Amino acid sequence: MDCENCGAPATPGLVACGYCDDPLPGMGPGVACPNCGDRNVATNASCVSCRTSLVKSCVFCGVASPFTAVYCVRCNESFVGAAERKAEREQAARNQQMIGLAAQGLSVIGSAVSTPAGQGFMSQLLGEVMQDITKPRKKW
Ligand SMILES: [Zn+2]
Ligand SMILES: [Zn+2]
Ligand SMILES: [Zn+2]
Repeated sequence: MDCENCGAPATPGLVACGYCDDPLPGMGPGVACPNCGDRNVATNASCVSCRTSLVKSCVFCGVASPFTAVYCVRCNESFVGAAERKAEREQAARNQQMIGLAAQGLSVIGSAVSTPAGQGFMSQLLGEVMQDITKPRKKW
């Protein structure tokens, strides 16, 4: 379909005339290239005029979304502050891992039983374990 305004042949991949910017009929709004402003078909991975990338990769799942997208098309993570959030989560995951490792350490259990709260917890835990051991077993 040629441009109704200037008669120029339509550029494949553009939703508007590449010459006069008149929207081509039946092509939808498309996405404007951030570099040259040409209106690309929304599914284009890069601008057909200047080859500028029209997608951005999600830092969480690596899937490409249109650069105009607010949320990742795959995992729905917001692109705003995505890098910071990822760093925060990785830090939190590392902390969790450290807590997990530390909890397994005998030194932590040792210091826990030296506090009244820790002793209470430990004796409660022991009590439950003892109860479980001494409980009469059901005969099947
Ligand atoms: Zn035109
Ligand atoms: Zn462009
Ligand atoms: Zn994602």
